[in-house]
Amino acid sequence: MIIERVETYPLLYKLGKPYGDANGYKKYRTCFLIRIITDNGVDGWGECIDWLPTLQVGFKERLIPFLIGKKVTDRTMLVKKVKKWHRRASSSISMALTEIVAKSANLSVCDYWGGRWRETIPVYASFQSYTDSPDWINHSIKIVEKALNDGFGHAKIKVGGRAFHEDLEHVISIMDMVDGHAQVAIDANQSYDLATSKKWIPTLQMNSNYMWFEEPMPVDQVTDYKIFRAQSPVAIAGGENLMSAAQLLPLLRESAVDIIQPDVMHMDGVDEFRSAMQLSRHFGIRTSPHVFDGALTRLYALFAQANLSPWSKMNGEEIEPIEWDAMENPFTMLVNVKPSKGMVTLPEGPGIGVELDMDLIQAHLWDGESYIE
Ligand code: MG
Repeated sequence: MIIERVETYPLLYKLGKPYGDANGYKKYRTCFLIRIITDNGVDGWGECIDWLPTLQVGFKERLIPFLIGKKVTDRTMLVKKVKKWHRRASSSISMALTEIVAKSANLSVCDYWGGRWRETIPVYASFQSYTDSPDWINHSIKIVEKALNDGFGHAKIKVGGRAFHEDLEHVISIMDMVDGHAQVAIDANQSYDLATSKKWIPTLQMNSNYMWFEEPMPVDQVTDYKIFRAQSPVAIAGGENLMSAAQLLPLLRESAVDIIQPDVMHMDGVDEFRSAMQLSRHFGIRTSPHVFDGALTRLYALFAQANLSPWSKMNGEEIEPIEWDAMENPFTMLVNVKPSKGMVTLPEGPGIGVELDMDLIQAHLWDGESYIE
């Protein structure tokens, strides 16, 4: 089976109202899809994220000419080569080639990977809590409350981008609203030092419904993580920006976190992502994939989580929840996979088992003009 054609679909959506985290506001959401078609007519979709002009030129000038004529089954070799030229592009190519091989065997991606341990995966509603409105705390409370009313039992909110006392007011207000009916994670996006992280401990001690504290400090400060983990009353999570399983090793070897959060699009392809997840099991810690961008990426994270052995024997809590972007973003609807009561049932057909919404893709095709993120 030979790669005959590669199509690209750069997508852009301008947000009605910017939202953000400790890293700043997002004014746009983007998505870059590729479709690889073989000489015998089998196709597979992939997704990656980066500055759209960089991806478009990279695929047109270098990656597509390189891929044409190559064997689909040489996936890991092709991805290893591509990542040297364009690291972020490798996730899309690994996804598309994975799907083609699974489809050719008439298997779902999960079955191709060795079979699913479970048919449903829990997801948590993930929020970008900050807006430029002075009333951002009330806005945050309303959107989290809506998600809980929609059936989510887990949510993630942001800290680290405002003064400590303001974030504290936000978190306490959310926990009062939740009133024990959901688990809540707080995510600082590596905003603090150890001393500021410790200021959260009295608040975290007052409530047993915190899911985890995500990336309080830069993740390369492994010793500080180790110290903080020893004192924190809640689990510590991190690692969403790491690019390989090997980069997780310092956190794992030092027992510096309770949960790792690999992201399919940040790792060197789907196979590396799955290696990272498996590594967590070898070290006896949890893994909750980070999935902020993209519906295909989220689907692959769900498939990988379905293939992962349980982390616990606790009834109903044996697999970790996956991030579910709950913000305004049409690209989360590219495939028709939605949660019900905070659980997603996996599609079963060959490959990814679902069709992409071509109307949605056509409606948001980037026109090639400059844009500012
Ligand atoms: Mg995060």
